[in-house]
Amino acid sequence: MEKERLIWFKGEVMPVSQAKVNVLSPTSQFGANVFEGLRAYWNKEDEQLYIFRLDEHAQRLLNSIKMMRFEDKFSYNLLIESCKEIIKANEFKEDIAIRQTVFLDGFGSWFSTSPIEMFIAPIAKKRLLPAEKNGVSCCISSWERINDNSLSPKIKVGANYINSRAGQLEALRNGYDFTIFLNNKGHVSEGPGSCLFFVRDGKLITPPITASILESITRATIIQIAKEELGIEVVEREVDRTELYIADEMFLCGTAVEMIPVLSVDRIDIGDGLEGELTKKIKKTYFDIVRGENKRYLKWLTPVY
Ligand code: PMP
Repeated sequence: MEKERLIWFKGEVMPVSQAKVNVLSPTSQFGANVFEGLRAYWNKEDEQLYIFRLDEHAQRLLNSIKMMRFEDKFSYNLLIESCKEIIKANEFKEDIAIRQTVFLDGFGSWFSTSPIEMFIAPIAKKRLLPAEKNGVSCCISSWERINDNSLSPKIKVGANYINSRAGQLEALRNGYDFTIFLNNKGHVSEGPGSCLFFVRDGKLITPPITASILESITRATIIQIAKEELGIEVVEREVDRTELYIADEMFLCGTAVEMIPVLSVDRIDIGDGLEGELTKKIKKTYFDIVRGENKRYLKWLTPVY
């Protein structure tokens, strides 16, 4: 029988089935929780499990806590150490995904600010691109992306994903793999759980952080490695919908999706409808870095063992 996974829950390590949350808590009733999705990659040669950009995830979690006006309870060090502790306790020696969630516990209202608690759990996250496919089809959502003046996409709060859900369910209903949102200004924003890049005339283009997107860690990683490792010019600027139709290459990126080529938008082929050459190069560079094979970026990796 498979051993039950262990979870870090309110300061203790316990089997997942023993972690209980009050059904009347604001996290349960209103999605009042902020979270991070992380990945760790097993490097066979180094016999090491590397958590990718743990520091940046901890910092973004603290930012989410601050923007939500949650009680300031968890130190940066605790966020980092507890994450390492639970991976170690599970004795993982394989690629894994982790959910680190800070939530409003107890019996409370949607405007409560405490008590705040945390869990960190390994989650089953299979690769999102089916093995038989080398890219995905996308549509432009009829749903508008949430914006900073209503429900900020910069806060990685559970409730935000109701917007992602509406768009993604529509895409699936209509036979597409993923949705792409436009923001309240009518410009291209992001995917339901990923950011978007495309190539035109050899330049890598992505909407700016003011385009109603999450400040994605993968996006920042790709911008840096495209410039530093591959000498590609990167442009962050407003993007119109039709510009996507005439892009040469396109991909989605994020911790969960990693890098997924987009082969069509609204049934219009991107380039020749195949994975692009620059996309392939960036993807290879990205995977070499996350797995610790490119030693120049070890600063982004936290060894667990
Ligand atoms: N946008 C949204 C809405 C997301 O949920 C995610 C995944 N966390 C991303 C972008 C990608 O962010 P990251 O690269 O930090 O995982």
